[in-house]
Amino acid sequence: MFRKTRLFTPGPTPLLPAAQFAMASADIHHRTAEFRALYSKVLAQLKLFVGTQNDVIVLSSSGTGAMEAAVSNLTSPGDRVLVLSAGKFGERWVALAKAFGCQVDLVSAPYGQTFDPSQIRAALHADTRAVFVQATETSTAVRHCIQSIAETVRTSAPQALLVVDGITGLGTTHFDVDAWGIDVLIGGSQKAVMIPPGLAYLSVSERAWAAMETSKNPRYYFDLRKERKVAPKGESAYTPAVALIAGLGAALDYIAGQADGDLVEGRKLLIENAQTCAAMTRAGLTALGFTLFAPDAPAAAATAVAVPEGLDSGAVVKTLKARFGAVIANGQGEMQGKIFRIAHLGFFDYMDTIALLGALEFIARDPLRLPVQFGQAVAAAQQVFASRQAAPADPNTCLCGRDQCCRN
Ligand SMILES: *Cc1c(COP(=O)(O)O)cnc(C)c1O
Repeated sequence: MFRKTRLFTPGPTPLLPAAQFAMASADIHHRTAEFRALYSKVLAQLKLFVGTQNDVIVLSSSGTGAMEAAVSNLTSPGDRVLVLSAGKFGERWVALAKAFGCQVDLVSAPYGQTFDPSQIRAALHADTRAVFVQATETSTAVRHCIQSIAETVRTSAPQALLVVDGITGLGTTHFDVDAWGIDVLIGGSQKAVMIPPGLAYLSVSERAWAAMETSKNPRYYFDLRKERKVAPKGESAYTPAVALIAGLGAALDYIAGQADGDLVEGRKLLIENAQTCAAMTRAGLTALGFTLFAPDAPAAAATAVAVPEGLDSGAVVKTLKARFGAVIANGQGEMQGKIFRIAHLGFFDYMDTIALLGALEFIARDPLRLPVQFGQAVAAAQQVFASRQAAPADPNTCLCGRDQCCRN
């Protein structure tokens, strides 16, 4: 049979055709009225998409560039910062903060789990300059409850800036940026917004702008103040990634188009979509006998699944690609070979989810030799879909998965 290549990876994610067309025709110079109109429109859309009154800045870099910008703009050598780390991306915050001379306090959780709120409280001090965390730790597919973390930071260390890597959290989980007091929230282009890698965007609070005036770490290309100065004119400080910005505009139009042109409502649908695909996938894979890697706090961005002892998750990744053209992700670092990860963020739907589960039924039988009946995963996923159609999930329900929600 023919195989259509399909990405199920948590970045890059499948490209939106309308965004591809917009990118292909973005033959415009960046110091023109045409570009200024495009950029002003996209910056305004991004505020709605992120859900904030704060400035949203766009950088030509992958997501890590914006993480670095947050560290270099907000800290000085010797500053005490707190990193909450439960995976590869949390470890990136530690490495970045150390690279810029910060003194790092660490609260960690084992891979596959989220943090103990009392440990966070105990690690906040009167001189903690900033707190760095992921909204969803893509390497383990865990969701951290940012609302409760924000509350803890605000009450235990009100002076500390809260910096959230929402690179796979945006478009898969709800944030009330301004009410919760998130000072910096970071997104990336190759995730829920359905365009290629190469753009990062971040919302920046007034408190964070003020902090930049006294912070002493070196910065040049990623000096956010330069971008803020020229953005109101529809300009960026250096040559922007024009084609990606055109693609981003088309993608945000598409998201708004799902809700009659209302981008805020469209964003909620995008989140609901990821949550439904994730719930279907968890049910389907559990029905096949797989163990969820993050059962207590599963992210809607991606699902991570452990393969049975003695088996190699790389075989699942390889066979799925070879037989069905479906590209999923192996574990990162120490998790390589032990887990595989399936993305739900961005341009996925019911059909994609069902098809992938149908293919995984084959893979479970061979090479994994699990005792699986055809239709097992698909039926479990369809049940989830049907019950969510009958009674849509409350978008404000915390998905931390604990009996006693971490918010309370
Ligand atoms: C993808 C991702 C990043 C950014 O990685 P880049 O390769 O720099 O785009 C950062 N954090 C999380 C949680 C991610 O999923």
